[in-house]
Amino acid sequence: MTRFWHPVADMSAVAASGELLLDRAEGVHVWDEAGTRYLDATAALWYCNVGYGRDEIVDAAAAQMRRLPAYSHYGDVSSRPTTELAERIANIAPMDDAVVFFASGGGESVETAVKLVRRYWSLVGRESKTIVVSRERAYHGLAGYGTSIVGTDAFTVGVGPLAGGTLRVPWDDPAALAEAIDRAGAEHVAAFFCEPVVGAGGVLLPPPGYLEEVRRICRDREVLFVADEVICGFGRVGDWFASSRFGLEPDLVTFAKGVTSGYVQLGGVIVGPQVREPFWAPGAGVWRHGYTYSGHATATAAAHANLDVMERESLPQRARALETELASALAPLASHPLVSEVRAGLGVLAAVQISPDALAEDATLTDRTVGEARLRGVLTRALVGGGLQVSPSLVIDDAGLAELVDGLRGALDDVSR
Ligand code: PLP
Repeated sequence: MTRFWHPVADMSAVAASGELLLDRAEGVHVWDEAGTRYLDATAALWYCNVGYGRDEIVDAAAAQMRRLPAYSHYGDVSSRPTTELAERIANIAPMDDAVVFFASGGGESVETAVKLVRRYWSLVGRESKTIVVSRERAYHGLAGYGTSIVGTDAFTVGVGPLAGGTLRVPWDDPAALAEAIDRAGAEHVAAFFCEPVVGAGGVLLPPPGYLEEVRRICRDREVLFVADEVICGFGRVGDWFASSRFGLEPDLVTFAKGVTSGYVQLGGVIVGPQVREPFWAPGAGVWRHGYTYSGHATATAAAHANLDVMERESLPQRARALETELASALAPLASHPLVSEVRAGLGVLAAVQISPDALAEDATLTDRTVGEARLRGVLTRALVGGGLQVSPSLVIDDAGLAELVDGLRGALDDVSR
């Protein structure tokens, strides 16, 4: 029996069927210990944007580890890669004059952002603005605040009481957001958290005009707009950030995953000048928030090498081209009897939705399709709502796309038989 308690896992099933022990990876493929090759349809957990086997990231991390692996960056301490990465991210940020607070991953970034928006309003003397609004189907990680603002109840079962002062609105309706803020009173609402494309909640693409409209609603009501770009950021949506593509100029951006392509874990919050100002003002004092690994030098060195690859190979632009290629490659699956729709067409993000009617009769269909796909050499994952996740590395080529689609089609056929 394994002693590894897996994250987000049915451990009785894992204990019964055993673990899939992955061993190595190259490009868009991973191999298990038995030597079986799989096409990675999900870039692991949406993060391996540059693909596997990038020696220059490995070398940058190793060189930094030899020189100075990490040191607490509390107070006035920093290291060259960390200070320079903040500068580099500020230069590509979707808002002007930004600064960057580092964390170890997406969950800590979301915790930081919730505390930032509440503390901001308290610093400017508007202590009543504490409510955090998020969307149904949203996913913001599984730390304390993230679990408290998640848009799917399955994540909150049995762990209450959750953090108070939160509100949920439908994922696709700007008018409902305006009404919710007005009903609560804008003087009580701190911020709206918004994934430009809902990821783990099912790859739900924003309806046309939705993002611009919710941005306007927040601005008009003095509600801070937090773009959770943990998935969308760093190229996946065909620009450095989805917020850049849609001209959202958010107040805050949470990021992780693609900043290092997962070679080393790193996350953070990009903070615009309005929110930064009272924290950095003379006399503001110490903001007692941060993590042991905030600004971890090995992680930031790896991020530089990752961003070098992305720039050199124009991967955000490649993602823009891939969004059409991916959508066309997946489109034929929409007519499969088990599939109700294929959601694709914005960045390298897609979902093959198993029909809700079929799922109502047999709730195991998505998991079984994932299992069959694995037997056919394609690794995918079930999303909230029963869709199959498709979010490959931004370097996938036509052969990789064909392998991906063939594997999924075969798996759907196997399950329908
Ligand atoms: N926010 C979004 C939009 C995410 O998709 C995720 C993870 O998938 C998170 C936050 C949490 O990130 P992590 O799993 O690194 O804590």
